[in-house]
Amino acid sequence: MTSRPDLEAETTTSAVPASENVAPEELTNTRKVFVRTYGCQMNVYDSERMTDVLAPEGFQATDDMEDADLVILNTCHIREKAAEKVYSELGRIRKVKEARSKSGKEMMVGVAGCVAQAEGEEISRRAPIVDLVVGPQSYHQLPELLSKARQGSKVVETEFDIDAKFNHLSANAEKPVLKRPPSAFLTVQEGCDKFCTFCVVPYTRGAEVSRSVAQIVTEAERMASAGVREVTLLGQNVNAFHGEAQDGTTWGLGKLLRRLSEIDGLDRLRYTTSHPRDMDDDLIDAHRDLKTLMPYLHLPVQSGSDKILKSMNRRHTRDDYFRLIDRIREATPDIALSGDFIVGFPGETDQDFEDTMDLIRRVEYGSAFSFKYSQRPGTPGATMDEQVPEDLKSERLAQLQALVSEQQKAFNASRLGMTCDVLLEKKGRNPGQLVGKSPWLQPVQLDAPESLIGSVQAVEIVEIGSNSLFGRLNAGQDERDDAGAIQAKAG
Ligand code: SF4
Repeated sequence: MTSRPDLEAETTTSAVPASENVAPEELTNTRKVFVRTYGCQMNVYDSERMTDVLAPEGFQATDDMEDADLVILNTCHIREKAAEKVYSELGRIRKVKEARSKSGKEMMVGVAGCVAQAEGEEISRRAPIVDLVVGPQSYHQLPELLSKARQGSKVVETEFDIDAKFNHLSANAEKPVLKRPPSAFLTVQEGCDKFCTFCVVPYTRGAEVSRSVAQIVTEAERMASAGVREVTLLGQNVNAFHGEAQDGTTWGLGKLLRRLSEIDGLDRLRYTTSHPRDMDDDLIDAHRDLKTLMPYLHLPVQSGSDKILKSMNRRHTRDDYFRLIDRIREATPDIALSGDFIVGFPGETDQDFEDTMDLIRRVEYGSAFSFKYSQRPGTPGATMDEQVPEDLKSERLAQLQALVSEQQKAFNASRLGMTCDVLLEKKGRNPGQLVGKSPWLQPVQLDAPESLIGSVQAVEIVEIGSNSLFGRLNAGQDERDDAGAIQAKAG
């Protein structure tokens, strides 16, 4: 992370139906799996891969927990009291499991993800209904682990063998895929070596490891042939990517993006989450050079105070960040910048907070995510002196969010009247309505036929809502060509 995706959280999603990914003949002896996903996009990606791995075992995804033979909680450890929340969810699942058992039906329960990694055997001890505990680097072993668990052993697998996971993902990538949504995630690296003092990721996801270029390209090609038009490359520290190419050289993220932009059918590329220290010239130039690389960058800074940045072990100063933003904007004037902010880190004074507000005013974000600092057991920040009182954190957070919200509104308003490319992704709430994404990652709602789902269309932005833009289809190719010019002017 540098965090947006990992600090984001507490939404739950179900994994894509396994039947979309696997040929029907592979589905024998069908059982149902319910996966609840907490937290970041990487967990969403992992949940999808879990259903892929389980599909040949005869599992189909279900949205109904009561109907499931296997329930998996894919957990996130970033929020406060994350483990306690998992235990209380397990309490609810216990009742469902007991009800199924009374009617003679089995239900196995697994805990995956970062809480599984952090808590390990403690989970089976405190929640005996749990049959297996699987860390984020081991889910490719699910079939084997399930089979052990069915024989009555309590299974806990929290090894950090990420190479094995990546190799497995690649083997799986050879299999045919029938259908995928227009926008999908693709993990290119995992783990982090930065050790920011507030963050658990280096402890739960382990050291930084990148997949090989060939593995990623194969998976991206497979996704494109399954209907994916937009791929978001994922990594906790994605721009630290350093994948090995077939000729033995090491590629950075910029070079990887250039290669992926050659794949037929992939209209859009994005990546998240980046660390300012790893934003190199090649990556910045890729934003300038690649039409497929969307003009959006999530680049967390966390604080605008040098003293706090140092105490957070961020390894950059506010001036480093300003210089970087200048270089990025020089290469891509219209880029939408997003960030993460933590308020109330130990030792944060009024002046430190004012430095953060000043940084936000100077950078002008298109959006940002902000959080009150909360102690994560095992991280250095948790035991630092000068913890900031909760009410002061709340006050600062409210001020910061008001400022970001003003900037976001201004950025959205600057799109009014533009014609831009929108990837149409799914049906909207109202009949005849579709929802898509602008190049700057804003949701766009418009009336359009369902047959256009999965295509990129020129859309004129006619209204700005609080969370979405509203548009109308604009068939004029000339205006479509103009979009780039308008975008450049808007920066
Ligand atoms: S340690 Fe720092 S750079 Fe690494 S994932 Fe956490 S916040 Fe991001």
